[in-house]
Amino acid sequence: MTTPITATTRLFRFVQWTLRPDRDDDAPPLTYAFRCLALGDDDTECGARSKSTTEPIDSQDWAFAHMRAHPEHTSYAEVIERPWVMWREGST
Ligand SMILES: [Zn+2]
Repeated sequence: MTTPITATTRLFRFVQWTLRPDRDDDAPPLTYAFRCLALGDDDTECGARSKSTTEPIDSQDWAFAHMRAHPEHTSYAEVIERPWVMWREGST
């Protein structure tokens, strides 16, 4: 199940704060990486990870290159970093 990306509002010290995805022009970029989940003979995770990139296809290319080097490593997790920002009610 996918969790929707929505703003969350809380009252903190009598000031209304909203936490929301930062989509401003100067916000940090959304980044993507892949991490290898394959388990070794001793059940420890490989843990190899691509660099974080702003283009999802670049981290997917890393997964294919990693599998070419380790043909038994076929399980991966995508790691997405999405910038969020706290916004105070009444500020501009
Ligand atoms: Zn691996």
